Amino acid sequence: MKVAIIGAGSAGMFAAYKLMQNKNITIDIYEKGKSIVERTRKDVMSGFGGAGAFSDGKLTLTTEFGGWLTDYISETELEKLIDEADDIWVKFSGVTELDTKRDYEKIKDLEYQCSRNKLRLYAAKIRHLGTDNCLLAIKKIFEVFENAENVNLYCESPVADLIVEKDKVVGLVTDKGEKRFYDKIIVAVGRSGNAWMQQIAEKYGIDSDINPVDIGVRVEVPRAVTDHFTNYLYEFKIKYYTSEFEDEVRTFCVNPGGFVAIERNDGNILTVNGHSYKNKKSNNTNFALLVSTKFTEPFREPVKYGRYIANLANMLSGGSVIVQRFGDLMRGRRSTHKRIEKNFVTPTLENAMPGDLSFVLPYRYITDLKETILQLDKVMPGMADPNTLMYGVEVKFYSLRIKVDKNMRSLNIDNLYCVGDGAGITRGIIQANASGIIAANDILTLI
Ligand SMILES: Cc1cc2nc3c(=O)[nH]c(=O)nc-3n(C[C@H](O)[C@H](O)[C@H](O)COP(=O)(O)OP(=O)(O)OC[C@H]3O[C@@H](n4cnc5c(N)ncnc54)[C@H](O)[C@@H]3O)c2cc1C
Repeated sequence: MKVAIIGAGSAGMFAAYKLMQNKNITIDIYEKGKSIVERTRKDVMSGFGGAGAFSDGKLTLTTEFGGWLTDYISETELEKLIDEADDIWVKFSGVTELDTKRDYEKIKDLEYQCSRNKLRLYAAKIRHLGTDNCLLAIKKIFEVFENAENVNLYCESPVADLIVEKDKVVGLVTDKGEKRFYDKIIVAVGRSGNAWMQQIAEKYGIDSDINPVDIGVRVEVPRAVTDHFTNYLYEFKIKYYTSEFEDEVRTFCVNPGGFVAIERNDGNILTVNGHSYKNKKSNNTNFALLVSTKFTEPFREPVKYGRYIANLANMLSGGSVIVQRFGDLMRGRRSTHKRIEKNFVTPTLENAMPGDLSFVLPYRYITDLKETILQLDKVMPGMADPNTLMYGVEVKFYSLRIKVDKNMRSLNIDNLYCVGDGAGITRGIIQANASGIIAANDILTLI
């Protein structure tokens, strides 16, 4: 059987790893970015290893976050897949320990403090690989593929199109216009392939739905402000429903001792992200604060909306991202280089432009973010300090959700599997891994 996998990120890699165990299957992997050997930090979103390669490698070992796979399979099934994916990471990274020794009494107390302040704390189990070990593991997986007889890896080979005949996918078209034919195709193009996925879905009428878009900022505070949470829970996941708009605002991707980073998206739009190293720490903690919006009729293009907002930040900052002190935002004035230099919190991202986020984010988002920071301050005093930094904008594009069954098969196009972030089904490494394994398992049953 011949299988093509489009995209060698978290989902594609794990699908291939699982499939290659059966020597009757030949797997061709197409990756639009560079191989892991040639990739640099500039290619954050694209290349062998996908968006996860230069990520913090924080594996959220829970069914509650990182995607919507429980919409398709049971929690118990997902737990098993998460364990399977986690075992693969442990094998290749050598990181065996979990985030922190979990002190359940302490966690209960933190949950109680949050609930008294209308905040909901979710305590997740995390394996923190760190950017260095995550990269190491991906390099080892790359070597495994290079040495496998039944895997052909084509890097710097974007797939231009699919070949669909009578509601059945039969092959693909390379960027050089070459047609190649397959029995099954797994599309795992990630967020950087979202626009491509949308275009293909429209062209072939692949059934899809829309997901919410998450827009917000990355917050940076002294590490001491969050230590009483992060010492017990590497990642605090907190949700809050704002009083003015009743919008859902959540913390996401917490990096104690971490660094704020710029992420280059398709179309050269710059957004903000954060990561941390296992062996190199800053004095700050950063995390995203995101407002979730699901648009209703007639608007169906949340990705376009997110890009538009990110574009505004890039335009006003002269081609970068904006950083603003919380105190300046509250006083209705921009931050300046001078104010940032004097600020108690030193930015870990040096080339962000001091500016005014209220020129970028709509009133609704600014109100939601201010209100949430003031609320978080009740359980993490210092959060709403004027010196707190906010970088904008952070946008999570997961708009298009391909309609799939419990095996990740498209509902209306035969032989097509859609997995990972690009299909709008996941939004984190471990669930993306799991979705790839689900597709592979289904193909394995057919042989
Ligand atoms: C900076 C950063 C930090 C992150 N930190 C974490 C974290 O700590 N923990 C966590 O759980 N998640 C994290 N994430 C999110 C996580 O990386 C993603 O959820 C995950 O990688 C999604 O996996 P995927 O396989 O669906 O997509 P990706 O990993 O994005 O892989 C998709 C691949 O497909 C390729 N591709 C796209 N289009 C085509 C095409 N037409 N032809 C061929 N190839 C194509 C892309 O080049 C890419 O390499 C982070 C993301 C970023 C950007």
